[in-house]
Amino acid sequence: MLKVDLHCHSNVSDGVLAPAAVAKYARNAGVDVWALTDHDEVGGTAIARQAALEQGMRFVAGVEISITWGGETVHIVGLQIDENNPALLAGLAATREGRDARGREIGVQLAKAGIPGAYEGALEFVDNPALMSRTHFARFLVQQGYCANTPEVFRKYLSEGKPGYVPHRWASLQDAIGWIVGAGGVAVIAHPGRYRFTPLQQGVLFDEFKQLGGTAIEVVTGSHTPDQYPVYAQLANAYGFLASRGTDFHAPGEARVDFAALPPLPPHVTPVWHDWF
Ligand code: AMP
Ligand code: MN
Ligand code: MN
Ligand code: MN
Repeated sequence: MLKVDLHCHSNVSDGVLAPAAVAKYARNAGVDVWALTDHDEVGGTAIARQAALEQGMRFVAGVEISITWGGETVHIVGLQIDENNPALLAGLAATREGRDARGREIGVQLAKAGIPGAYEGALEFVDNPALMSRTHFARFLVQQGYCANTPEVFRKYLSEGKPGYVPHRWASLQDAIGWIVGAGGVAVIAHPGRYRFTPLQQGVLFDEFKQLGGTAIEVVTGSHTPDQYPVYAQLANAYGFLASRGTDFHAPGEARVDFAALPPLPPHVTPVWHDWF
């Protein structure tokens, strides 16, 4: 059976490895079909594709777009996109635009909470200046000993309602799906089990997503707990969505579940890649 991983990050967004190094890491973990899905960025795609082919993997061009829906941040993955599509590139550039200003404001808020120098400190972890992420702040706070690990930083400082949380308005659901589908791709709701929606709100999101041209959801992802795999497998079938799978890898040792440990999709769903090869 092919080992397919369709959700990974490089240092072009908030991962720590360069795209080619992520390709090697994935291949060493037995991945056969691989997508790089950096946040709001496709700048790593060309190098990732070349590295993947050199490693003997099939490559899938991808992206993970930040959107705001129902007052929450939601992530929409695009797969099999043409990464040179002008409308997609313009949309991603617009989506990235507010990140630096948000980062500066996170620095201000953390300083008020007794953590000085966080913007400058987080910048030390940023490889792509257009893509400052909360993850970079998390790594700085761990480095400085404020927290033991990244999840603890999010729990204590960077989640909604916590001292370093700065609300941000991302792209709309309609725009994100439009950019992805317009670039020939498949739109996928990333880690649906991670959002704090009621079942009713989640149903509205799924309906709207489908109506706007979305066709898949992530079922098995490092951002789900194992008990969520069967729940989202069933929901995928109930809504007629294809099922996707990916680690959401960011860095060796930082993952909730590593490449090798992530189970395959349950047998009764239709994989998003069913008609790709
Ligand atoms: P941003 O796009 O800057 O808001 O950052 C979002 C990123 O933060 C996500 O893509 C994850 O990499 C990371 N993240 C969010 N919540 C958590 C969490 N609870 N634990 C670890 N990382 C998280
Ligand atoms: Mn991330
Ligand atoms: Mn995500
Ligand atoms: Mn991700």
